[in-house]
Amino acid sequence: MNNDRTFGAVTVIIGDKNGKYPHGNSLLVRGRNATAMIDPSLSVVARTDEFRGRADLVVQSHVHEDHVAGVHLFPDAEVHAHREDALGLRSLDGLMQIYGYPGMDEPMRDFVVSNFHYVERPDTRDFEDGAFFDLGGAAIRAFHLPGHTRGHCALLIEPAGVLFLGDIDLTGFGPYYGDAWSNLEDFEKSLRFISVIDARVWVSFHHVGVVDERRTFEEKLARFHGKIAERERNILSYLVEPHTLDEMVAHRFLYPPHANLSFIDAAERRTIEQHLQRLLANGAVQRVSESRYRALRPAEH
Ligand SMILES: [Zn+2]
Repeated sequence: MNNDRTFGAVTVIIGDKNGKYPHGNSLLVRGRNATAMIDPSLSVVARTDEFRGRADLVVQSHVHEDHVAGVHLFPDAEVHAHREDALGLRSLDGLMQIYGYPGMDEPMRDFVVSNFHYVERPDTRDFEDGAFFDLGGAAIRAFHLPGHTRGHCALLIEPAGVLFLGDIDLTGFGPYYGDAWSNLEDFEKSLRFISVIDARVWVSFHHVGVVDERRTFEEKLARFHGKIAERERNILSYLVEPHTLDEMVAHRFLYPPHANLSFIDAAERRTIEQHLQRLLANGAVQRVSESRYRALRPAEH
């Protein structure tokens, strides 16, 4: 018994808790000539007997541990990732570059291999913005929407009109741009562009799952996008009193206080640094000593 949803050639493989991390929602696209698996997650691994070897292609929205957890089930398939992310599948060293968490190399290697079945695929092929995978009567078109990672893409399945959002995931957590490979400015551009893509069904890798009304999609997208401004307001409120970056990391603006994954401090630091950079540039924050920052004007709203 499963909760999978089908739209023409597309099956949405709904993961545990609707794909809440570390699980995710993957897509299987069956064309006349070929079958593609998109972002094989732990939810695909949980159904190994059903899916092992059942795809000719694996196509990635981007390369992160939870999106590649099932790649090992398809040793004979062609594996495709955007040129900027492909290094993370070619080698574990490449994946560590994508995270870029200082001092976290060994625990992260262990984390992705032990919990996410990571295997290297040196034969991973690069694709570019606009890449088109024709499966016969069904096709996958890539839209390069960086920010979460440099190579992050949304994948449109035609003619079903299903847009796979990858980690523009519409969750209450909000956008994640806490890796070396992440970029806040690019993420915001991608959030503006994604609603222009003509689709009828939207699939988020995490938690939200399937959205089949444009109005609902737009609402969820606006709320998701709003988390960036909310974090910025929280940072400004905190900086009414001067604080160091270390204090800001310990305070946390991204993860809740009880969360205890090993990479959280590194992700907080990278996230806060990007906000600080733009708050310093627009004059909302000032450096008051070697390492302390202070808000010059109070948070809006
Ligand atoms: Zn991701």
